[in-house]
Amino acid sequence: MTESDRAVTDRPLLEVTDLAVSFKVARARGSWTRPVVRAVDGISLRIEAGETLGLVGESGSGKSTTGRAVLQLVPADSGSIQLEGTDLATAGANGRELLRKRVSMVFQDPFGSLNARMKVGDIVGEPLEIQRIGDRPSRRSRVTEILDLVGLPADAISRYPHEFSGGQRQRIGIARALAVEPALVVCDEPVAALDVSVQAQILRLLKDLQRETGVAYLFIAHDLNVVRHVSRRTAVMYLGKIVEEGPSSTLFGAPRHPYTQALTSAIPIPDPDAPRRRLVLTGEIPSPTNPPSGCRFRTRCPYAQERCAAEVPLLEPAGDGVSVACHFWKEIAASKETTEPAAR
Ligand code: SF4
Repeated sequence: MTESDRAVTDRPLLEVTDLAVSFKVARARGSWTRPVVRAVDGISLRIEAGETLGLVGESGSGKSTTGRAVLQLVPADSGSIQLEGTDLATAGANGRELLRKRVSMVFQDPFGSLNARMKVGDIVGEPLEIQRIGDRPSRRSRVTEILDLVGLPADAISRYPHEFSGGQRQRIGIARALAVEPALVVCDEPVAALDVSVQAQILRLLKDLQRETGVAYLFIAHDLNVVRHVSRRTAVMYLGKIVEEGPSSTLFGAPRHPYTQALTSAIPIPDPDAPRRRLVLTGEIPSPTNPPSGCRFRTRCPYAQERCAAEVPLLEPAGDGVSVACHFWKEIAASKETTEPAAR
C-alpha cells in the first residue's frame, strides 16, 4: 500500500473541524438589534465509514443545527466540513453533487416528512429520479428491493402514507434515505415521535441495515438510552459545545463530565433497588444568545469553582479514547464523595 493509498483509507468519511454556526433571531420589543444565537460554537467530530456517531444533548444544545450544517442546510460561520476529503463549503457544484450522492437524511416526524399526495413507490423512488439514477424499470426494481429491505409489504409501493402506522411511515422514510445507497445518513431524532415498542423495532432495523449496507449514521437524539444502543461512539453537546466524546461503552459506563454524569444518572435502570449515584440537574439550559462566561455548564454544575467562570475548558484527552471539557474532571472522578451534590 502506497502512502497516498494509506492517506485515502485513513481518511474519515466525515470530518468536521471547528464548526461554528450562528443566526439572528427576532429582536425584542424596544430593541434595535437582533440577538445572535451561537447555536454551534467551534465543534469538531469525525465519522468513519460504516460507524454510528451519536450526538446527544438537551433541546437547544446545537445538535440538530450541527446535522443541518453537515447537510449544508444552514451556512457555517467558520470551520470546515469534509466529506470523503472534499470540503463541502468550498467545492462548489462538485461538493453539492457529492453531498447529494453520498449523504441523506431521516427526519423526526414520520407524518409530516412524507408527501401525503404521493404513493410510497414515488416517494422512495424520487431521489433516484432526481439524481437520474437508472431508467424507469431499474428504479422501480430498486424501490421494490429497498421496501422489502426495510420490512414493508410489496403492495406498499402503490399505497399512500396515510394508510400506514407511525413505525411503518418511518420505515418509508428510511427506505427513501437509503434508496440512493448513501455512505452517511443523518438521523435527526428518528424515533422520538414513536411509541417505545416501535422505537426498538426501528433501531433494530437501522442496525440491520448498517450491517447489510455499510452505511454510517450521524444519530442525533436527546434520549441517551436510545443513543447508547445504536452508537459506537457518542458526543455530548451542551449549549453549542461538545463537552465529552468517546466510545459509547466507556462514556456511558464511566462518564467524566458532570453534564454527562447528570444525563446518564437519569437513565432508567431495570432494577429499582440497584445502588446508583444520582446527579440532579436543576434549571433550564441558558440562552445561547448570552451564554455564561468560561464553562457554559457552570450555572448548573454542582462542582463549579471560580476558575470555571474565567476560563473556557478545552476538550482534551482523558484516557480510554475519551475527551472531556472540564477543568476538574480528575478531581471529580477521584472524589466520588457525594451521591447527590447540592444543586444550584
Ligand atoms: Fe463544572 Fe467547572 Fe467542570 Fe464546567 S469546568 S463542568 S463548571 S467543574
